[in-house]
Amino acid sequence: MSDKGIVYLVGAGPGDLGLVTFRAKELISQADVLVYDYLVHPELVKWTRVDCEVVYVGKKAGFHSVPQEEIEALLVKHAKDGKRVVRLKGGDPFVFGRGGEEARTLAKDGIAFEVVPGVTAALAAGAYSGIPLTQRNTSSSLVFLTGHEDPTKHELQVDWRAYGALKNTTLAIYMGMGHLKFIMGELVAGGLSPETPAAVVQWASLGRQRSVAGTVSDLAERVETAALAAPAIIFVGEVVRGHEQIDWFEHLPLFGRRVVITRTRDQNSELREKLETLGAEVLELPLISITKDVARESLVEILAELGNYDWIVFTSANGVRFFFEDFLKGFPDIRALGMLRFACVGSATAREIQRHNIRVECMPDTATGESLADALIATGSMDSAKVIVVTGNLNRDSMVKKLEAASAIVDKLPLYTTSKVDLTNNPVADDFRQKGADAILFASSSAAQSFYEQSPALQLERGAKKPLGGSIGPQTTATMDEHDMPVDFEAKKPSLDALIEAMVERLTR
Ligand code: SAH
Repeated sequence: MSDKGIVYLVGAGPGDLGLVTFRAKELISQADVLVYDYLVHPELVKWTRVDCEVVYVGKKAGFHSVPQEEIEALLVKHAKDGKRVVRLKGGDPFVFGRGGEEARTLAKDGIAFEVVPGVTAALAAGAYSGIPLTQRNTSSSLVFLTGHEDPTKHELQVDWRAYGALKNTTLAIYMGMGHLKFIMGELVAGGLSPETPAAVVQWASLGRQRSVAGTVSDLAERVETAALAAPAIIFVGEVVRGHEQIDWFEHLPLFGRRVVITRTRDQNSELREKLETLGAEVLELPLISITKDVARESLVEILAELGNYDWIVFTSANGVRFFFEDFLKGFPDIRALGMLRFACVGSATAREIQRHNIRVECMPDTATGESLADALIATGSMDSAKVIVVTGNLNRDSMVKKLEAASAIVDKLPLYTTSKVDLTNNPVADDFRQKGADAILFASSSAAQSFYEQSPALQLERGAKKPLGGSIGPQTTATMDEHDMPVDFEAKKPSLDALIEAMVERLTR
């Protein structure tokens, strides 16, 4: 790390993860400090390094939880401490995002900074709702406006009537939901035909996107009936006409469906991504958390003898991370691993190993400890092999027993403990309790087990939708049966794709 700090003002895009730029992703994964706010997808925060300091300065309409001056002071302070700071903002930092103010403060204080643009909400709202923003012959200009005006704060007033007089123009209004009726009235007073098509797109590009279209005269009423609110973009103009013909996103198979997934921090990205690609709204319930908790003696003994082992086995990406942190403290050279062969379950775990340019030589198709043991035995190398099994406090005894039965000499290396997350004030859990979901997916026995253990904290409120339960395979189903959890669908083979397929089939039946 250089000793000169720098601040990156980075646009996080409108929500959908695929719309984050490469540059943004790269900077997030290198940051020492990440400062982010309300409209940023939670998944982005996971791209940070384990030791990155993450600061939420959430701004939700109405609450400015951290005042702007404090945010700026925070950026300045960390940069002066020599940190690489990423200031992540929804959409684009220079479009209604106060990025300009932050940049000016940094410039004034002599702090190095860069600005990384993002896909601004209006662009996403158009693309994801079948509303092109310009159109030959009808719409030759495009205006981005803010509808957030607070007369008591002497903010700049938008002259809505002047915009109502513009011809052949598309208006894209940010932060206008609080004054929708007023704005539409002013546009008409300025000369706009009340029959002009208009639409509202809420949560654009996310699974929870909702949209309503009508005309300038009836939009406010339709929005009220549909109960749409911020964050949303209001579109006014001919471009809205015919949106239903090209509204691809709202026709995806899982659009409008709420799906709960239940694993731990590092294993969910792939499942989430697959579901979001199909248009679903994904609720990721954080049921268990993992903390580093190293059994010192075992670690020291094993590291001292590392050259004598044949295999090292991981069952979680966290295990890999914790192992390397301590390994690299003891040995500055990766070659101290010698000829140690790597085995793991789960693609996220494999990716974590591959980050060190190490090949994973054994990984079963099914992500369970027992199938990993089977796969290792199938390599034919277990007889008298010395094997390290990196574990948490959940026991891996069935895997260890299988390996020992195949004449391996197994040493367990406990590096972390797994504990229940407190769900009482958790926003995702709140959302689940209030509204429920269409389905809940269990991709492992342990996920079903932790859900069961957390179920007192996850009681649905009245009127909430009761989710269908889905299982990835017989072992998970058995755990669910044991706890009387309904199994409404089961994957035909043990893969995430098959699990999703079973759900789509069941939901669209
Ligand atoms: N810098 C952001 C805008 C921040 S102002 C950008 O470039 O997009 C906050 C407003 O942006 C919200 O009130 C809403 O009008 C709009 N917005 C942000 N994300 C949105 C989304 N996913 N869907 C619809 N509108 C969104």
